[in-house]
Amino acid sequence: MRSVSILGATGSVGASTLDLIERAPDRFRVVAVTAHHSVERLADIAKRTRADVAAIADPAALPALRVALAGTHVRCLAGPEGVEEAAAVPSDLVMAAIVGVAGLAPTLTAIRRGATVAFASKECLVAAGDLMMAEVARHGATLLPVDSEHNAIFQVLEAHNRSAIEALILTASGGPFRTWTVEQMAVATPADAIRHPVWSMGAKISVDSATLMNKGLEVIEAAHLFQMPEPQVRVLVHPQSVVHSMVAYTDGSVLAQLGTPDMRIPIAHALAYPDRMPTPAERLSLERMATLTFEPPDEQRFPALRLARQALIAGGTMPAILNAANEVAVAAFLAGRIGFLDIAALVAETMAQVSPHPPVDLAAVAAVDDAARRAAEHLIQCRGAAV
Ligand code: MG
Repeated sequence: MRSVSILGATGSVGASTLDLIERAPDRFRVVAVTAHHSVERLADIAKRTRADVAAIADPAALPALRVALAGTHVRCLAGPEGVEEAAAVPSDLVMAAIVGVAGLAPTLTAIRRGATVAFASKECLVAAGDLMMAEVARHGATLLPVDSEHNAIFQVLEAHNRSAIEALILTASGGPFRTWTVEQMAVATPADAIRHPVWSMGAKISVDSATLMNKGLEVIEAAHLFQMPEPQVRVLVHPQSVVHSMVAYTDGSVLAQLGTPDMRIPIAHALAYPDRMPTPAERLSLERMATLTFEPPDEQRFPALRLARQALIAGGTMPAILNAANEVAVAAFLAGRIGFLDIAALVAETMAQVSPHPPVDLAAVAAVDDAARRAAEHLIQCRGAAV
């Protein structure tokens, strides 16, 4: 019996995790669950899974959570400290699935108790990769990548042959605008951007997929997770999303992990690791697919990928600036305040305005994250005034 905490239980990865856990009640027991602001859904999950602890990030939601869980034995917590306290509750595995850099502090809490962390919160590694990987090493924690590309690489990476790795090859679906012109993208709506051709995901990551910023963030994530220099992390557009990523070795061998695009496959890999568990995911039928295609990414139409590489090469807190500006820009796009092409433009302008700090500790990351958010917000307001 493996005990599991789920940080971000009401999100897309959280829902898939619960789906798998509820299909295998003899293998898993949920001890702690957290959510951003969805009180009713969090309370429902806590009751259903008989969790010991439920934490809501919004401190004002504590009374409502207490009412929703009245008469149960679930301990209710609230605020960022409450979420961190939930992450500190002993468990065999922590599913870190909070969207955005908000997941950083609770994920670090889990790492610092030496936990096994199934890691789906890519923005944390982008914003504070050096710091997080140092803490993982210091506390003997284990990171199991859940992001489908990184999970694929984790599955085919031969740890004893690290020096024989020529490149990590991340595949990208290309998103909903893969074949769109710049003129078409200029008038793309949030609904267009969220309509992902292959994967069904949350709004933030769907927009990131449309800009290819998601792949840029994943390049940074891979560089940290697998301790690989930037030129050795390559990207290949593969619209069918069957090959989830590859590792190329110096002898000419390329190992790939394949499967249908269902997040329950990488999540199950992390939940059961080092064993395997069954999932109800649709089985891959290569004869039905018939054709798998690959093409290089177009960094002219999708500058976000280039910006992410620049941030990775610059190092320090530059990736945190990239990430914070992107979070603000995506929210502004979803709110109809800026156009689709403005997302990457705003990230570039913010990166040019905010100076990176060389020493990367949590306080420096927080300060630069805050400065980048304010700079991006100011740029959005200037744009609004100019229209
Ligand atoms: Mg991914």
